[in-house]
Amino acid sequence: MSSTTRTAERWTNWGRCASSTPSRVAHPRTADEVAEIVRTAADSGQRVKPVGAGHSFTSIAATDGVQLRMDGLAGIQHVDHETGYVTVGAGTSLHDLNPALHALGLALPNMGDVDPQTVSGATATGTHGTGARLQGITGAIVGLQLVTGDGSVVTVTPDDAALFGAARVGLGALGVVTAITLACVPSFLLHAREEPMRLTDVLGGLDALVDENDHFEFYWFPHTDRALVKRNNRVPEGTARKPLSKARFLFDDEIVSNGVFEIVNRVATRQRSWVPRLNEISGRALSAREYTDWSYEVFVSPRRVRFREMEYAIPRAALPEVLREIDTWIDASDETVSFPVEVRFAAPDDIWMSTGYDRANAYVAVHQYHQMDYRPYFEGVEAIVKEHQGRPHWGKLHTLDADALRARYPRFDDFLSVRDRLDPHRTFANAYLDRVLGGGHASANVSGATVSA
Ligand SMILES: Cc1cc2nc3c(=O)[nH]c(=O)nc-3n(C[C@H](O)[C@H](O)[C@H](O)COP(=O)(O)OP(=O)(O)OC[C@H]3O[C@@H](n4cnc5c(N)ncnc54)[C@H](O)[C@@H]3O)c2cc1C
Repeated sequence: MSSTTRTAERWTNWGRCASSTPSRVAHPRTADEVAEIVRTAADSGQRVKPVGAGHSFTSIAATDGVQLRMDGLAGIQHVDHETGYVTVGAGTSLHDLNPALHALGLALPNMGDVDPQTVSGATATGTHGTGARLQGITGAIVGLQLVTGDGSVVTVTPDDAALFGAARVGLGALGVVTAITLACVPSFLLHAREEPMRLTDVLGGLDALVDENDHFEFYWFPHTDRALVKRNNRVPEGTARKPLSKARFLFDDEIVSNGVFEIVNRVATRQRSWVPRLNEISGRALSAREYTDWSYEVFVSPRRVRFREMEYAIPRAALPEVLREIDTWIDASDETVSFPVEVRFAAPDDIWMSTGYDRANAYVAVHQYHQMDYRPYFEGVEAIVKEHQGRPHWGKLHTLDADALRARYPRFDDFLSVRDRLDPHRTFANAYLDRVLGGGHASANVSGATVSA
């Protein structure tokens, strides 16, 4: 049986800031079906683009060619109980994966703060959580299966250093990933401690906070000296699970962090001068709390207020200076910012296009409510982080092009060589990839896809 195909409707991402109209949508169920679709499209000069959950803010997943929905290639395919290696279909959502792993006594070593993304979408853009001794989700990849531009099905393992270096954060530029093998760890409980602190105190004790906690992050409320600090740590063997009560979760996570926050943002849209006062109140509204729960329950929070986001990785030592410069910029500008600035940390890795390549990073993420113009704020912050060797998250808004990125990624040209080998005719290209990797073709020039930015 062949994969199901249908005529496409307009596709839009979660942030409502990227959209495109594919020529058709296909739902392949096997690697061979993906290969057939790629060969047929390439023969007729069409582009192909797999899409995950549309949770990238950039137009990295947009296409006017054939859109592949990967939901037919989902679920756990193989488990090696000795090594903890688990092979999953590329389209498996993290939301489905976490409880399925838990049922096997396993877990991902680290996670970001939401779970609707697919495993392939999250890893293609280098999705990460926080933890100075831990890498992003991509750091857990020990192998993957990839359908390349000529329809070949290739198995990528650490034995092929070039393919392995390039394909784990592949940006969707090297082919269609059909399965991923992840090194999982035994299920673990995390003790979560969350409390408001002065930003001055956070920065004063930063190294200890980052190094002495397994997962440390904080949210700074612009226009104020207030921050919400989160420390998540593994607990000793035998510790009992003590999850948040349903009432506390409903109040803090649903009502304050989402319901009230939506209202705060609507008010902020009309009464911009109220934002500093609203941020003072928000910075105090979430009181201290502690609980102990399974890792994936602690990592993930509901995010119902729609926003746009830009996130840059900067060398960890540059963080205090970068935050001071952002504070000064906001004070001197007309901008009012109701969303907290999110700050996280990660260990270096060896993945060529990962923001963590060969560098211990702090991550600075700025957000703006979806009904407000994000550009002046993001441009102001981007000018600052660019001066500190900032590397943008591939799935979040930024304006860098291939020349600027080449200077930030030592293996950039090696990645392009692998791309020339795997996708010489640019079957997997789109306008975003033309910008960030260069529009050049291995054998001739191709134009960008006509999609919105
Ligand atoms: C509310 C929200 C919270 C977020 N939180 C975090 C966070 O905590 N940490 C973080 O780092 N990021 C975070 N992100 C960003 C998000 O994790 C990334 O943008 C991720 O790529 C989204 O995954 P997706 O499945 O939606 O992929 P999509 O956005 O749909 O696609 C991303 C890229 O992956 C490619 N792709 C998808 N499937 C395949 C495949 N099978 N083969 C090859 N390429 C493929 C697509 O072509 C595209 O290039 C967040 C985003 C949102 C909207």
